Amino acid sequence: MNTKEIEEAILKIVKDATKKGEEVIQSTLWQRLGIDNREGTRAVINLVRRGLIKREPVVYKGRKTYKLTYVTRKKMKLKLIVNLNPVMKIPCFTCRFLPRCSEGNFYNPQKCVMLTNFLREEASKRRRE
Ligand code: SF4
Repeated sequence: MNTKEIEEAILKIVKDATKKGEEVIQSTLWQRLGIDNREGTRAVINLVRRGLIKREPVVYKGRKTYKLTYVTRKKMKLKLIVNLNPVMKIPCFTCRFLPRCSEGNFYNPQKCVMLTNFLREEASKRRRE
């Protein structure tokens, strides 16, 4: 078996076992597949690096080894709710003069009636709360 075949065989064993809720002890794989420890370990490490299996240290029959489990990839639904309502209330957000509005210009936030009224309303709401 070449490296790719070894990886595929290990992945299949681990995947099937994980589906059944069973554990795969790494040290038992070599005999099962008829491969040596070194090439098997290399294949397992490649699978771990690719994120296909997870390896956790365990003691099996008095010896340190690893428990292998298949990494299931679940698609997660992400729901993002952005509330723009507070921003939408600011008159500048929808103001057609915004590109020309700045200090020293005709349209000026320091003298703007719409912005001043908005800020006064918001301030009085806050005082009432
Ligand atoms: S300050 Fe007044 S004029 Fe300037 S962008 Fe805001 S609402 Fe428009």
